[in-house]
Amino acid sequence: MRPLAATINLAAVRHNASVVRRCAPGRKIFAVVKANAYGHGVREVVTALHDDVEGFAVASLEEAAEVRALHAGARVMLLEGCFAAAEYQYAAQLGLDVVVHSPRQLEQLLESKLPRPLNVWWKLDSGMHRLGFAGEAVRALYPRMQAAEQVAELNLISHLACADERGCEQTEDQLEAFLGLLDLNFAQRSLANSAAILTIPAAHMDWLRPGIMLYGASPFADISAAELGLRPVMTLQGELLGCRDVSVGESVGYGAIWKAQRPSRIGTVSCGYADGYPRHAPSGTPVWVRGQCVPLVGRVSMDLLSVDLTDAPDAQVGDTVELWGQHLSVDEVARAAGTIGYELLSKVTSRVTRRYFAN
Ligand SMILES: *Cc1c(COP(=O)(O)O)cnc(C)c1O
Repeated sequence: MRPLAATINLAAVRHNASVVRRCAPGRKIFAVVKANAYGHGVREVVTALHDDVEGFAVASLEEAAEVRALHAGARVMLLEGCFAAAEYQYAAQLGLDVVVHSPRQLEQLLESKLPRPLNVWWKLDSGMHRLGFAGEAVRALYPRMQAAEQVAELNLISHLACADERGCEQTEDQLEAFLGLLDLNFAQRSLANSAAILTIPAAHMDWLRPGIMLYGASPFADISAAELGLRPVMTLQGELLGCRDVSVGESVGYGAIWKAQRPSRIGTVSCGYADGYPRHAPSGTPVWVRGQCVPLVGRVSMDLLSVDLTDAPDAQVGDTVELWGQHLSVDEVARAAGTIGYELLSKVTSRVTRRYFAN
């Protein structure tokens, strides 16, 4: 078997959920488990959080059905609502909470004959301008929605564009737009993602929607997950498959873009872009070997990448290599590669074995 695995610490997920609780006591939690729980495995994450949270949030009916099969009692929210009129039937059968973000969705809902009414999260576009109704539209359509036989609870939801930037003016405006609709009688309200849970108490409302913080990565560019009290969940581990000495001027990898400036010892690691490691990670991106960080060198290839072991002379073939996780935060690797932890975690591909433990 190819020596590459993502070990996933389910005790850390539960710990991180307890951090959410501590940040916003008394609020309810939709654990966001879209995209296969940000790459961690929806089945295992939902099972681990079964008794810790009140709900789960997903991006599609297929994901929702999977969560419902694992948890009969939880609220399960479709973050983007239904993508076709027929989906409302299944959503009602599964007892889902649906977002309604567009006039088209609203009409399809109100034309549906449902076996039972749905909890609706009416999405306000409070300023992100991605999905949702303008405030005036919500106000104008409110009586119709409130009276609709298809609607059980009528709830208000919105999403913050800049919650990760402290003191951002847009966040103030978005919060104001949200609060400005609360004279209407919504049963429940939800606004906060991880960044807002951690730093914007005024946005906590009734239901929190933590994603990235559950997986032990930071939503902020300038505060580490460790500083936030979060524990890393996924550790992506490969193995040192080869080791060689190269002389000054010799190159490593495709395109020969990296050339040794000194006599160098190069290690080859069992991880590449087909595993989800970012191909655009530049030379210098940190990789953890034998208790220290060493720099990636040359281009990442499909199944392999190379590291400079010159300053880690004890490293040898067979050693475990950590691409990110317990010793090297995914956020640090993401920063070096010009992306965010979210992308690295959710792009770990299906050929990478997931191994679960809890401690
Ligand atoms: C993905 C998502 C979240 C979770 O965001 P994090 O930054 O990962 O906490 C919350 N709300 C919505 C609407 C989302 O799409």
